[in-house]
Amino acid sequence: MIMLHSTNRNAPKVNFKEAILKGQAPDKGLYMLDEIPTLNDEEVFSFRDLELPQIAYNVLSKIIGDLIPKKQLESIINRALNFEIPIRHVSNYDYMMYIDQGPTCSFKDVGARTLARLMEYFLEVENKDVIIITATSGDTGGAVAQAFYEMNRIKVIVLYPKNEVSNLQRKQMTTLGKNVTAIGISGKFDDCQRFAKMAFADKDLEHFNLTSANSINFGRLLPQTLYYFLGYSRVTEDLGEKVIFSVPSGNFGNLVGGLIAFRMGLPVKKFISAVNENDEFPRYVRSGKYQKVEPSKNCLSSAMNVGHPSNLARLIEMYGGQIDETGMVHKDPDLERIRNDIYAISVTDEDTKKAIKDFYKEYAKIIEPHGAVGWTALQAYRKESLTDRGTKSITIETAHPAKFPEAIISLLNITPELPQALEIIVRKNEFPNPVEINAYDDFKKYLQANY
Ligand SMILES: *Cc1c(COP(=O)(O)O)cnc(C)c1O
Repeated sequence: MIMLHSTNRNAPKVNFKEAILKGQAPDKGLYMLDEIPTLNDEEVFSFRDLELPQIAYNVLSKIIGDLIPKKQLESIINRALNFEIPIRHVSNYDYMMYIDQGPTCSFKDVGARTLARLMEYFLEVENKDVIIITATSGDTGGAVAQAFYEMNRIKVIVLYPKNEVSNLQRKQMTTLGKNVTAIGISGKFDDCQRFAKMAFADKDLEHFNLTSANSINFGRLLPQTLYYFLGYSRVTEDLGEKVIFSVPSGNFGNLVGGLIAFRMGLPVKKFISAVNENDEFPRYVRSGKYQKVEPSKNCLSSAMNVGHPSNLARLIEMYGGQIDETGMVHKDPDLERIRNDIYAISVTDEDTKKAIKDFYKEYAKIIEPHGAVGWTALQAYRKESLTDRGTKSITIETAHPAKFPEAIISLLNITPELPQALEIIVRKNEFPNPVEINAYDDFKKYLQANY
């Protein structure tokens, strides 16, 4: 059985089930595979004849092994990945992969929906119930709430800053009910996060089995390998043909998913790590000195406003180094190899806006700010790299433009049409805020009285 260790190397090894149920390792590191199983070129090439759920089974079963029987794993995959991931030709050798058709129209649906069903399965096996507490600044809360909706053995509490989320973001959390409770707090995101962390550490609440579903859970990361195999299989024609992936990056979960696929044998020529003005990673790759951006910068691609990406712990370990959760590098990775595999570049807000306009002018298609960062980074790479001219590229569009109407209206003078998934949410009635929370004690009392 494949085991996982903590990137901080100071916690016992766990299997896949334990990694999912624990989330973060007790030494505050992230769980990572001891060994990465491989697929050969023929196997990867054969994916061109398979649909996403079949590809997913082939990849995931290599890692999950017999922890989940075939039938159940297939069922988890079929229920989690029940939406399209279209890959469309843009021009010449360049393609775009749209991961924006899930219930919250963001690529986070892939990881969150798979994690929810994996967790539900393992809790059934363990005969255990949990309460998930998620603090959100807007987007993650919706993806987690929708993903865990109606899961057995799991209740979800989302804490969000009442006055700082958009209508659409709030409705993704407050219109569900059943096992999902959304609580608006009259503070900031930091207050939400503080209340969640205090609850996790509160001995009086231990019997609730409180847990989190944030992006450091390996069960959210692993499914993010799957669309790399899918995209590859849809654009290539020759056995062993290599492609370029451009990945809009914030917390680096998306990119690390791709790197794991690469280690599993996916033929990749280059990953482009496209970040906004939070440029700690490109600076690190260039200089070898890691320095977080503190406080993080507010950019148009708001889901990527991360000044110290937590998944760097996994990335740097994949290249032989070690970095802890505070951003301290304990051992340098092989930077030459990182530079060889990854082209890291920061894109300004100004260039992001220009890309949205240019893309629409040239291809009559709206891209949103995160995808625009990826597209701009690809253009920079195309300019610089003379040898990869004929290599196909796939840029990942990580969300639907309708999630960012203000930006699109101001740049293109067009109101993006709401996809059906979002329209349904907009029409639904909201559950009223269940409780007024001004201090941690209010939250604690609410939990004890209602759960
Ligand atoms: C979360 C998010 C990202 C960043 O992904 P990471 O895995 O954190 O690098 C990019 N785009 C959108 C729309 C997101 O929601």
